[in-house]
Amino acid sequence: MIKISLNDGSIKEYPKGTSALEVAKDISEGFARNVISASLNNETLEISSKINGSGKLEFYTWEDDLGKKAFWHSTSHVMAQAIKEFFPNAKLTIGPAINNGFYYDIDPNNQKISESDFEKIETRMLQICREKHNFKIRSVSKKDAIKFYENEENKYKVELIHELKDGEITFCDHSNFTDLCKGGHIPDTSIIKAVKILNISGAFWRANQNNKQLTRVYGISFPKQKLLNEYLENIELAKQRDHRKIGKKLKLFSFSNKVGLGLPLWHPKGVDLRERLVNFLKKAQKKAGYQTVITPHIGNKELYITSGHYEKYGEDSFQPIKTPKDNEEFFLKPMNCPHHCEIYNSEQFSYKDLPIRYAEFGTVYRYEQSGELHGLTRVRGFTQDDAHIFCSEDQLDDEFKNVIDLTLYVFKSLGLNDYSVQISVRDSADFSKYIGSVSAWEKSEKAIIKAVKDKQLNYSIVEGEAAFYGPKLDFMVNDALGRKWQLGTIQVDYNLPDRFDLTYIDKNNKPVRPVMIHRAPFGSLERFIAILLENTAGYLPLWLTTNQFIILPISDKHEKYCQNVLNLLENNEIRGLIDNRNETIGKKIRDAELEKIPFMIIVGEQESDKKEISLRSHGGKDYGKMKVKDFVKIIKDKIKIEV
Ligand SMILES: [Zn+2]
Ligand SMILES: [Zn+2]
Repeated sequence: MIKISLNDGSIKEYPKGTSALEVAKDISEGFARNVISASLNNETLEISSKINGSGKLEFYTWEDDLGKKAFWHSTSHVMAQAIKEFFPNAKLTIGPAINNGFYYDIDPNNQKISESDFEKIETRMLQICREKHNFKIRSVSKKDAIKFYENEENKYKVELIHELKDGEITFCDHSNFTDLCKGGHIPDTSIIKAVKILNISGAFWRANQNNKQLTRVYGISFPKQKLLNEYLENIELAKQRDHRKIGKKLKLFSFSNKVGLGLPLWHPKGVDLRERLVNFLKKAQKKAGYQTVITPHIGNKELYITSGHYEKYGEDSFQPIKTPKDNEEFFLKPMNCPHHCEIYNSEQFSYKDLPIRYAEFGTVYRYEQSGELHGLTRVRGFTQDDAHIFCSEDQLDDEFKNVIDLTLYVFKSLGLNDYSVQISVRDSADFSKYIGSVSAWEKSEKAIIKAVKDKQLNYSIVEGEAAFYGPKLDFMVNDALGRKWQLGTIQVDYNLPDRFDLTYIDKNNKPVRPVMIHRAPFGSLERFIAILLENTAGYLPLWLTTNQFIILPISDKHEKYCQNVLNLLENNEIRGLIDNRNETIGKKIRDAELEKIPFMIIVGEQESDKKEISLRSHGGKDYGKMKVKDFVKIIKDKIKIEV
């Protein structure tokens, strides 16, 4: 018998050789129908293969990331099969699942795979899927595996097999198609109901520019046609919501090749937006006991040698700046933490002073390859809403909770209501790769998990994903199009206090190391604004938007009254402007709609005589006539709900 422990904590006994699918059926037939993949002791396995040892069995459905991975990985086999049928001389290389779908890198071998082939490949794939072929994994000796691919004249697979250990090589068969594969498939092809080849691009074999350029074919598949339709619709919407497009339209930021790739230029309206975000967070941070600090954009090489960043990033980073006479070397600041450690070090704190919380909107610079740059989401210079908390171990619990509270307050105020958290903890089997003591790690991991549970957050724990210097908590936000973005991070650090020899004097008058927390709710202002623009399609929350209203006079006769209205609203700290152009009211309304201004105030003869306004909101809702003070109340009430 083997002992199988399940996710709910129960342990069940089964005869040796029972498959994961049989265990699922034992739980319930309905449950088993949804299971598409499984893992035993964190290793993926075929759900129909015999299990011969005890362990922890986990099941995955389409709803799980690992379920999707198995689904897409399996579909890449089907795509490869279809492509081989149309292009018999093509050589297959590798075909992994990715975040959204899968790809296969193929050497077309003097043939050309192009967009015009997509449809016939898709049709053939669906045909294969409907035929309900099982995916079957089998072991092959190294010799036989090499022979198989030598027969196919596929030097790529032969190269891959040479790097594998004899005895650990497996092939996957389905239909009449065989591929070198480690495993992790769905039971059979019939659950793949919809497929789409998305695009093709070039990719070098093993990502090495000296190697041959292959054709990378991207695809995606779903268990329902409806899901594919939704996915394609969302791609279209995402194109319209591209923050680079919206940013240009709203005149927020731009890039200039002359200034340099990946270096955003913020225009006045963009700066307004940034400042509102910064002021909002500054106010919240002040309440939460943070103190603001400012540090320079460069730092001496020695600083980063002390912090360990030089060793880690030195080679891949920007080159040092040398001073002309003393030959000192400086680096553009990649992180604010080392600077903040030195601020802490300039005083001797006692336990009574802790926690110390230093916050800085610090601009940092990191080298990214030009091909990796993307709008505001991947840049070479960005401003973090950074802060470092230095506290005693006893304070870690509370500090962590406070940081979570602040982060959630930020999300709520910006309409980001769909989020989850990921807790990254140490690898329980091997502590040798971490620094700090086991007891300290235990304490901080417990503190994080407890804080997350107390806040009733939707969370997952990932073992082995912690940094070598401490466990962390990442916030993931799902946007309006169902895309996942990683935002704020909270990280415990035992390393830097050690490297910078930070201490505080405890009750017994002894120097003790503080614990350090790094945190950034936005992550970076650049990335955050990009996500905000894409999530809202440019319709920012009212409190954040540049112009909350626009006054549209029907004729220039009402200019004076309009100016009075504007003054009144500005006195109430409501932002807006007057459209004094000599245009028809219809045109003025259309332009205000395009500029995404939330409220339009229309002023004509009647309004001006009665000292009233006609109010209309973006999207055409008519509020009718009212006094200005009533509008002030409407707008203030709306903002109160947001922040
Ligand atoms: Zn496979
Ligand atoms: Zn930091």
